[in-house]
Amino acid sequence: CGIVGYIGQNDTKEILLTGLEKLEYRGYDSAGIATINDNGVHVTKVKGRIATLREDVDATVDSTMGIGHTRWATHGVPSVMNAHPHQSASERFTIVHNGVIENYIDIKNEYLTDVSFVSETDTEVIVQLIEKLHEKHQDTKKAFSEAMSLLKGSYAIGLIDAEDNETLYVSKNKSPLLVGLGEGFNLVASDAMATLKETDQYLEIFDKEIVLVSRNYVEVQTLDGQVVERKPFTAEIDA
Ligand code: GLU
Repeated sequence: CGIVGYIGQNDTKEILLTGLEKLEYRGYDSAGIATINDNGVHVTKVKGRIATLREDVDATVDSTMGIGHTRWATHGVPSVMNAHPHQSASERFTIVHNGVIENYIDIKNEYLTDVSFVSETDTEVIVQLIEKLHEKHQDTKKAFSEAMSLLKGSYAIGLIDAEDNETLYVSKNKSPLLVGLGEGFNLVASDAMATLKETDQYLEIFDKEIVLVSRNYVEVQTLDGQVVERKPFTAEIDA
C-alpha cells in the first residue's frame, strides 16, 4: 500500500499514476486518485490494477493538486466502495490513508452518530471526523490537527479541502510518509522511490506532526501549531 500527493504546475494525474505504479511492489488490492481544479474534486477508484485506474482516469481533467492511494484492505473487503480516496458527507474533504485506526468505533460512537457512512473502512471515520470538527472550528487546519490528536493507531494521511486548492494537509504516525521538495511544486510519498523522477530533495516527517504543503512552501508543525524547522536530505537514486 502507498500514498502519493502532488501540488504544482505539472501534470498532476500523471505524476500520481506513475508514483502509484512505482509503489506497486508494496502490494495492494485497489487504488484511486483525487484531483482538484476550478470545477471541484474529481475522484476515480478501482478494485484491482493501477493499469485499470489509468484507463479509467479522465485524461481531459487538468489539475494542479491531487492525492493517490494503493490500498491493502484491513477494514472492509477490497471493493470500489472501500477503495480510497474517501470523502466526507458534504464532499468538501477528501482523504487517503495507509494504516489502521484502532479507535475508529469509539470515534464513530462519540462524534459521528448522525453521519451515514458509505464504506466499511476505518478511514472514512477520519474524514467524517474532520468535517464534523470543521463545523465547530470553521478552520481546516484546526479541524485536521484536532482529528489527528484524537486518532489512535497508525496512519499516513493526505487530505484535500475542496474550498482550498492551494494546500495539501499531511500527517503521519507509525506509517511512512515523506515530503518531496521541488521548484514550483511540492509532493508527498510513502517512499522517495515513487517520486525520484520529480525530485531528490526530501523532508522527513516525524510521528504526530502535521505538514501544510503548498506549491511554493512547506510548513511542518506540531499538533498544537508550533512551527518546526526541518532540513531536507538528498535521496539516493538506485540504478
Ligand atoms: N485501514 C485502511 C483500509 O482498510 C487503509 C489500509 C491501507 O493501509 O491501505 O482501507
